[in-house]
Amino acid sequence: MDDEIDRGHARALRRLPGRAYWLIGLVALGMLGAWLVLEIQASVTAYVNAEGLWSKMQKQSVLAMYRYSGSGDPRDLAEARQTLRTPLEDLALRQALDRDPPDLEAAYRHVRAAGNRPEDHDRLIWVYRLLADAPYLRDSVRAWRRTDADLRTQAGIADELEARWRRGTPDADEIAAYRSRLYEINARIYPLTVEFSDSLARGAAAIRRLLLLSSAVAFALLAWYSLRVMQHTLRHVRETEAEFRMAFHQAAVGMLKLAPDGRIVQANEALAKLLGTSLAELRDMRVQDMVPAEDLDRTADGADWQQWLQSGERRLLTRDGRVRWVRWTASPLARPGASADRIFVLLEDVSDAHAMAREIAHQATHDELTGLINRREIGRRLGEGLAQARRGDIVHTLAFIDVDRFKLVNDTCGHAVGDRFLRRFVNLLSEQLQGGDWLGRLGGDEFAVFLHGADLGHGLRTMEEIHGLLSRTSFRWDGREMPFHCSVGLVEVNASAADVEWLLSAADAACYLAKEEGRNRVRAYSDANRALARRRYDLDWVTSAQAAIAERRLLMYAQKIVPLHAPEAGLRYEVLVRMRGMDGVLHPPGEFLMAMERFGQATAVDGHVLDAVLGEFDRHPGHLQRLASCHVNISAQSIADPAFLARVTERLDRRPAVASRLCFELTETAMIGNLADARRFIDAVRERGCRVALDDFGSGLSSFAYLKDLPVDIVKIDSAFVRDIGKGGSDLAMVRSMAQVARALGKETIAEGIESAETPPRLARIGIDFAQGYALHEPCPLEELIRQAGAGGEAWPIMQA
Ligand code: C2E
Ligand code: MG
Ligand code: MG
Repeated sequence: MDDEIDRGHARALRRLPGRAYWLIGLVALGMLGAWLVLEIQASVTAYVNAEGLWSKMQKQSVLAMYRYSGSGDPRDLAEARQTLRTPLEDLALRQALDRDPPDLEAAYRHVRAAGNRPEDHDRLIWVYRLLADAPYLRDSVRAWRRTDADLRTQAGIADELEARWRRGTPDADEIAAYRSRLYEINARIYPLTVEFSDSLARGAAAIRRLLLLSSAVAFALLAWYSLRVMQHTLRHVRETEAEFRMAFHQAAVGMLKLAPDGRIVQANEALAKLLGTSLAELRDMRVQDMVPAEDLDRTADGADWQQWLQSGERRLLTRDGRVRWVRWTASPLARPGASADRIFVLLEDVSDAHAMAREIAHQATHDELTGLINRREIGRRLGEGLAQARRGDIVHTLAFIDVDRFKLVNDTCGHAVGDRFLRRFVNLLSEQLQGGDWLGRLGGDEFAVFLHGADLGHGLRTMEEIHGLLSRTSFRWDGREMPFHCSVGLVEVNASAADVEWLLSAADAACYLAKEEGRNRVRAYSDANRALARRRYDLDWVTSAQAAIAERRLLMYAQKIVPLHAPEAGLRYEVLVRMRGMDGVLHPPGEFLMAMERFGQATAVDGHVLDAVLGEFDRHPGHLQRLASCHVNISAQSIADPAFLARVTERLDRRPAVASRLCFELTETAMIGNLADARRFIDAVRERGCRVALDDFGSGLSSFAYLKDLPVDIVKIDSAFVRDIGKGGSDLAMVRSMAQVARALGKETIAEGIESAETPPRLARIGIDFAQGYALHEPCPLEELIRQAGAGGEAWPIMQA
């Protein structure tokens, strides 16, 4: 509808110059008509004048000859000849013009000699040339021609009379005969002159009538057309103005016209509503009055033109002093031909978006149950504390607190009581902290306390005090007393700490020690014994993993990845490695992979897994046909190892059919830790048709910002976000926004760690593409999965929303 109106205006505007040309054309035509009327009248007058002179001279000449016939006075003869010259020259003029081509030089000579008025010369000549054959004038010319013979005769009589008088005085009869001839000539010429003038006058009248009529028609046409154009233009101007007014006043966004000094020239209802005021009040305001004082550029007294021209987000004050956020889009306005002296501003209320952004930022950094900062924010703040310590001026203490036997509270009293217990515990704990200290929740029943500016000795004393107070207090429920017992591990945050992860694991290790020693106590981390123990522990795992590789005790398990929307033709799963110990116990990768990584051995595992998977494909060629995607995990070390990449590409190049069925999973931290290597690896495998998934998205410290730059096809959302999704709250919001962002970037999403059958429909509703978890499929030996698939045992549960 609006579109139609706009197109109508555009058309009207396009036609306007055309209409103006038409008008100008019509006016010019009218002027041409008027000029023609005047010109024709002047020409007719010229001919009437010429004819008047012609007749007068011809008559005078007859009269002079009449006298001369009786008197013989040479003066009479001279007069007769002199006056007869006019008609004779006119005759010569006509003959000059009748010549082919017309002799214009002679014509001008004769018209002058005939004694015509100089201003008539041109008209006499040109009207004859153009219109001698036209009706009316044709008749006049014919009458003129018929006088020719008599004029010549008259000239001849003059000669005869002169000769006669030279011979002696003529007698009375002779004189009478001459006079009678002259009389006859006169009698013949007179009617011809009358006819000449009459047809000339009739012609002039006819032309005048015609011209008057056409002028009247042209004028009527001109008037009608001008009126129409005016009406049209006026209507369009009015409509456009009305539409603009309507758009201005009824627009959903605020609009404002400002004078350079900030005075409000015009404002609309939406703005008044936004500011909780009336239009009348707005008109008395200056823009400076609606912006918080601290946002004003005070050097310019708020009346700075440039300041108001800057677009962006601004805060405005409502009438009752609340702050609203608006998107301010300003453009200078200029009247035609003048420089800009007004600013037009569009103000869009973005307060809700701001509130939401604040809320999301809060949710992303805080724990919902306790309101404490979460693991991510703990990591960030700890990083800040460590940076401070590295600058050398301060040390802090980090405490890792684990509530003793919290599981028991949960199991015996239910989760709701468990939640209350934790909240009460947190309240007690935070009451003991001082400015600069902070408390955060690492997860479950684990907390971190940061004691600002406290060295390990000071930290130990403080935490002992707090711990003592906590253990003397207890939580009462249903007649039972549950003490707030906890194990606390401390580490000093000083320049020698490797990184944030190290600090957390050191504090964790000290806490572990406290638990080992019988719980409910505080222990500090001491580098030497801890590091040694760790190394010994790692080495044990590395040795047994290496042996497992050699003895083929590294087993391939697989877990299905289930589509949440349309059913899928092929099978999709992730390969997960397991280690069978010498004692027959099956170890998950969490136990040995970290140790392998710390000893730079992770690539051996990845290479083995890849070869094992490709070996399965070679053994079961039919399986490849039924396979949609097989996901293989790759560790950070392998990504950075060119030899590993060469091994992968060599394998892929040998099996072109396999590449499109393989998807490599790279964790967020592995990629971001080494972006350049990650890119090289990803590009190489994608070039060969493989796909790449970003694993454990959300678990690291990275964010959406990286997602944009990483050339991955799939995003796997970390199970930490998915686990509690049934409770709604921030996790659901986070997963939803992850799905939205991934979709916007053209990536597929997989949610990991689905432990409840109620979760998949929820995930489907918020746009997640695939799901993976114990509730859908427990990891099983890869061979078993392949066998099942081959036996046609595929009935993938499709989780519909
Ligand atoms: P991941 O790649 O994120 O794999 C998913 C992990 O979640 C697997 O643990 C899987 O058993 C577990 N899981 C599946 N469903 C659920 C569930 O409903 N709830 C919970 N809590 N967990 C679930 P797994 O097999 O212990 O592997 C742990 C990690 O070890 C993997 O995390 C992956 O990063 C790594 N990994 C596994 N296999 C390999 C491998 O062959 N090479 C490398 N480099 N890393 C591997
Ligand atoms: Mg994985
Ligand atoms: Mg994962």
